[in-house]
Amino acid sequence: MKRISKERLPEVWQRISGIFDLFLPIKKERTVNFSLWREGEDVDLKNLRTAVSPKELVFPQTETYLKFKREGKRLNLQSVGVQGDPYVIFGVRPCDLKGIKLLDNIFLSEPVDTYYREHRERGTIISLGCFDPEETCFCTSFGVDSGQYSTGADIALWDIGETLLWEVQSPKGDELTQSLSDLLEEVSSRDVERLEELRGELKSKVEELPLAKIDPRKIEGTQQEIFDKEELWNEISRRCLACGTCSYGCPTCHCYDVQDYKFGEQGERFRCWDSCMSSDFTLMAHGNPRTTQMQRVRQRFMHKLVYYPKNNGGEYSCVGCGRCVERCPAHLDIGKVIKKLGGEG
Ligand code: SF4
Ligand code: SF4
Repeated sequence: MKRISKERLPEVWQRISGIFDLFLPIKKERTVNFSLWREGEDVDLKNLRTAVSPKELVFPQTETYLKFKREGKRLNLQSVGVQGDPYVIFGVRPCDLKGIKLLDNIFLSEPVDTYYREHRERGTIISLGCFDPEETCFCTSFGVDSGQYSTGADIALWDIGETLLWEVQSPKGDELTQSLSDLLEEVSSRDVERLEELRGELKSKVEELPLAKIDPRKIEGTQQEIFDKEELWNEISRRCLACGTCSYGCPTCHCYDVQDYKFGEQGERFRCWDSCMSSDFTLMAHGNPRTTQMQRVRQRFMHKLVYYPKNNGGEYSCVGCGRCVERCPAHLDIGKVIKKLGGEG
């Protein structure tokens, strides 16, 4: 393990951005998001939750697959490869890091999504642990210990005050670390002690969080029994405005639509994020199998809490990042749903 003084971080970013596109949590007006770093940007490493999760860097909001053009009776097709240069994401929080792992389960299993794979291969992820969770955080309910979790990161950082501890996690992370070696220092035994103190303090902070008792493993019933709780789903879904905010901000939601955009004799085929909360989601030629908002809301939570774990070794498709808790205009979030289904303990 190495250490880097926070004062020297701009030098690190300068160096990395000379080789890669560098994305950092950057504040623009009042919103923090992972954005391309340039000198002078307002980097906010204290922010725990960017408005949009960093999933947009591995799974872009829109992505063109091919371009087409009519020429007489012929339709010429031109495939479009993955856009973007090799990149580094600096400061990915543990919940969002696990979100990327959950996306990997979907997109990297057979048949592999080759666009996603290429985005993942081009990227180097530098995570940043959390020792001061917010009131709307509940990542521990989904198996993320934010003082320890670094699965999938190439380099893991731990903020111990004036200094960040720097831990290489992969050959890619090692290569980047080597190129920055003159900026990094050796850790002292006091640094390591401080890290362990913070990890210990985190445990008691987490127990005090308002959502600490949420436990999806306590939800009882078979898939069919949970699905059939119509009265409960009606009650839960009544307030939903179908705005889709919960899906677009969520680090684990991964549904997308494929559309053709035609202008004159030419056009593009692209994919774009979609939301199961929208009334035209799963709309097919014969109609839509989900005709009410209750059915759509039920689908979202059944997928996250029942279907996904069933097909992915018990992992839930939620990481407790708290974005939907913070952002849903109707105050309908997954924490409330889990409690209503009996998942509290
Ligand atoms: S953010 Fe809230 S209101 Fe909007 S679609 Fe999601 S649950 Fe419904
Ligand atoms: S469902 Fe809500 S809390 Fe869970 S990962 Fe998505 S946005 Fe975060």
